[in-house]
Amino acid sequence: MRPSSRDRHFWLTSAAAVLLTLGVVAAIVGLHEWSSQSERAAQSIGSLRTAIAVEQEGILDSPRLTATRQAQANQALVLVQATETSTATRGVIAGMTAIYQLAVSDEVYALRRGDVLSADTLNVALGDPAFTALDGKLATVSGAETSSAARGVTIAFVASIGIVTGSGVVTVLFGVFARRRRAAIAAQIALSAALVSEARVTLTREETFRSLFDENPQAMMVTRLPALITEDGNLTFLAVNNAAIAMYGHSRAEFLALTLAEIRPAEDRALLRSNLHAMRGGRTHFDGIRHATKNGGVLDVEIDTRETIFQGESAMVICSTDVTDRARLQRELEHQAFHDALTGLPNRSLFGDRLEHAHQRLARGTGCYAVLMLDLDNFKTVNDGLGHAAGDALLLEVSRRLSTGIRAGDTAARLGGDEFAILLEDLADPAAASRAAEGLREILRTPFAVAGRFLTVSATIGVATSSGGGAATDVVRNADAALYAGKADGKDRHAVYSEDMHVTAIERLTLEQDLRSGIGRGELVLMYQPKVDARTGQMAGVEALVRWNHPLRGVIAPDQFIPIAEQSGLINDLDTWVLSAACRQAQAWATSAVGAVPVAVNVSGRNLVSCGLIDRVLAALKQTGLDPRLLELEVTESAAVPQQGEARDLLQGIRDLGVRIAIDDFGTGYSVLSRLQGFPVDTLKIDLSFVRSIVSEHVGAPIVDAMIAMGLSLGLKIVAEGVETEVQRAYLVKRHCTELQGYLISRPITGDEVVARFRPPALVRVA
Ligand code: C2E
Ligand code: CA
Ligand code: CA
Repeated sequence: MRPSSRDRHFWLTSAAAVLLTLGVVAAIVGLHEWSSQSERAAQSIGSLRTAIAVEQEGILDSPRLTATRQAQANQALVLVQATETSTATRGVIAGMTAIYQLAVSDEVYALRRGDVLSADTLNVALGDPAFTALDGKLATVSGAETSSAARGVTIAFVASIGIVTGSGVVTVLFGVFARRRRAAIAAQIALSAALVSEARVTLTREETFRSLFDENPQAMMVTRLPALITEDGNLTFLAVNNAAIAMYGHSRAEFLALTLAEIRPAEDRALLRSNLHAMRGGRTHFDGIRHATKNGGVLDVEIDTRETIFQGESAMVICSTDVTDRARLQRELEHQAFHDALTGLPNRSLFGDRLEHAHQRLARGTGCYAVLMLDLDNFKTVNDGLGHAAGDALLLEVSRRLSTGIRAGDTAARLGGDEFAILLEDLADPAAASRAAEGLREILRTPFAVAGRFLTVSATIGVATSSGGGAATDVVRNADAALYAGKADGKDRHAVYSEDMHVTAIERLTLEQDLRSGIGRGELVLMYQPKVDARTGQMAGVEALVRWNHPLRGVIAPDQFIPIAEQSGLINDLDTWVLSAACRQAQAWATSAVGAVPVAVNVSGRNLVSCGLIDRVLAALKQTGLDPRLLELEVTESAAVPQQGEARDLLQGIRDLGVRIAIDDFGTGYSVLSRLQGFPVDTLKIDLSFVRSIVSEHVGAPIVDAMIAMGLSLGLKIVAEGVETEVQRAYLVKRHCTELQGYLISRPITGDEVVARFRPPALVRVA
């Protein structure tokens, strides 16, 4: 029951109780009055009756007293008149009394006259009947008045009981209502007490909140409760703590003028709507949120929200944690997982993802996409010759040019080394892929400024397109086959995949397997190309050149299988076999009539440092017992002269054994001539491309001149490779080149032919 309703009942009950009591009291007073009136009337009638009876008795005995008694009777009659309520009864009594007193007066008169008989007769005739009638009437009236008084007493008694009962009922009702009212009051008191204590708790909570809030190292802001309002994000800040001020850079006043939406970067504000929606749904933790700072920066934050009481009202406290560094690290890690560290381009796995996506998209649409596999033709030379820093700079610039050379939506990825893959999507026709490949090659043609010089770089691109059939990985494999075909065709071009390339690729694979078993089966043979002293023309030594006597294909030239051996890791086995075969041959010559013939062995530049070359050289020398001074190792310039000191230490170690070192293909590796100073090298072999530039004895070949002059000044032996003409020979002799090698002197020949062709005394002595 609500208090107002309870109050109304209480007051109504109280009023009824008062009215009832007043009514009952009034009734009792009335009854009492009525009963005492009746009693008084009965008494006065009784007095009249007595007075008349006394008068009747005394008339004959003492007529003198009769007048006195009549006076008494009259007084009693006046009393009756005054007390008797019924006018009719009063009239009857007065009339009968008058008749009786007339009879008495006549009787008294007769007596006074001494006429007792008349008196007696009058008495019998008039006096007695009047008396009897009056007395009877008075007795009746008196009985009626007496019983009336008794009835009044009974009614009063009953009324008293009624009063008591009524009072009891009223008291009980009053008690009930009083108890209810007491309960209601008690409840209200309890409620007030609870409110007071709640207010106290709230106050305490707010105080605690305040102290915890302001100095908390956690940035916190208070806004109204979004659950209580309908607008989205226009929640002004009710309070912000010191940590939030420091974190966001706004002063407190500036902060309190902002809304929750306004600390979101403009592009993120639409997100706030869904966050608030989730918050109303009970979510309290939010990550991946971005907040703007005063100075225009953007923070990555995590948000926790709690309901609280602020200034007596429901509010929301927002805890904001700056996770910018962590988020950045996370993004970096994610980026690293899918991007190439050096160039920032997508890596193989991201490329694979995009390719798969493009492939699946095409299955639902029309047109085609293309994969371009791009390989720089002379990167290894740059990397090895100018150092890794220069190689990295070149790759970076190539990456930049490739990225700008493709359309938005296309992907240029670095797969590793100098190998790039380009995904071209939404192509109208396959010919567009070829045009794009030529476009990219054109972009790379502009010389690159690297390590203080301009480098010209060419690229070979394999192109494969797909209209969505088969697997996405097939397209990559096809582009790879096309790249390989393009390289086999002489590099610096693009090649579009065709079925036969696949055959070539399979052949290449077959060749690799054949070579693996062929090395063990003795299918490799050595040819020897002589070198002669430029001045005397006498044989100065031979270079061992490997051939593969394939059981089905016949003799295969090293250019066709050395790259396969290098890529498949078979090169170490191959070089080891060549090394020991050449040492064995040289030792055989040295211990025969032929005598000492220095042998040069080619060593692959790949993994020069990590392939355990010294051990293999030592093993070969030990196996064959060859004098180390009869062995020379030819390493390419780009492998021998890199920036790092490891190759140098390795070559020095080999030289310490007594084995000579020659720099092969000298001039093609961008190496700085001056760096050769003090380098552990005995011989420079001028690459045949430079020798070929000698076209006349009288027209200078300045690079060749410089190489010879510089090499000689360093005390090195200079060997010219690929000498084919007499002009070249004469030119080189004139420039004091040490030794000559080339078809002019001899093609590569077998060991037996060496013996036949260079009999003693043409043999040289070991220096
Ligand atoms: P290279 O070390 O520069 O060897 C010289 C190449 O030039 C040889 O080709 C030789 O036949 C050829 N040549 C010699 N004189 C002339 C000439 O006057 N004109 C022309 N046009 N060419 C001439 P080959 O034997 O086919 O060897 C090719 C390359 O294969 C070699 O170049 C060398 O880099 C590599 N190679 C050969 N044998 C081995 C080997 O046993 N191990 C390793 N790792 N590589 C080898
Ligand atoms: Ca060589
Ligand atoms: Ca060479």
